[in-house]
Amino acid sequence: MRSDPAGGAPLLPSGGEPADATDPAFETVRPGQPTPGRLGRVGPGADEGLADPGEPGRRQRHELWMRRALEVAVTGPAAGGREDGESPVEDVPVGAVVYGPDGTELAIGRNERELTGDPTAHAEVLALRRAAQRLRRWRLEDCTLVVTLEPCTMCAGALALARISTVVFGAWEPKTGAVGSLWDVLRDRRLNHRPEVYGGVLEKETAAVLRAFFR
Ligand SMILES: [Zn+2]
Repeated sequence: MRSDPAGGAPLLPSGGEPADATDPAFETVRPGQPTPGRLGRVGPGADEGLADPGEPGRRQRHELWMRRALEVAVTGPAAGGREDGESPVEDVPVGAVVYGPDGTELAIGRNERELTGDPTAHAEVLALRRAAQRLRRWRLEDCTLVVTLEPCTMCAGALALARISTVVFGAWEPKTGAVGSLWDVLRDRRLNHRPEVYGGVLEKETAAVLRAFFR
């Protein structure tokens, strides 16, 4: 007879998610580390494309852009409540901005999943769509997407498909992050397009906005 492992904690299906993904200790490895998870490392070449964020000028630019993304995150259409007085289910405040090669703001997006009832209405996807509409092309080479939270698998996939050059994100998302935490979709050597990635930009500020929302 087999003993009950982990005091009755639900067993993960075999071949399913790695057990570490839900281990609270996992979170302790992320701060300040561009490649925080061991899990994401299984993909070859995960350390590639992670440039030094300390290069003069770039860090300041990324922080400036992140402040704009934070502004987008907290000032969406859902923030003001509805006219009919019903209190809507508020969307998690995540904001994204796409910048062109010359630093021009091309498009913004805020998580609108609850507002629109659309499971794909993440900030990054909305910003990518609008930037592509504005440029009249789907290829967003030489563009930068800045987002307040580490992208999920869907958004990481969309960023790769858009051929975006650079991704800058704020808070790490150890539960669902696909840019270094749980997976590392954007820096997998098996893909021929791998954007440069800068994670943890204004990490304290971006994480605080999310913590305040969930409190
Ligand atoms: Zn997403």
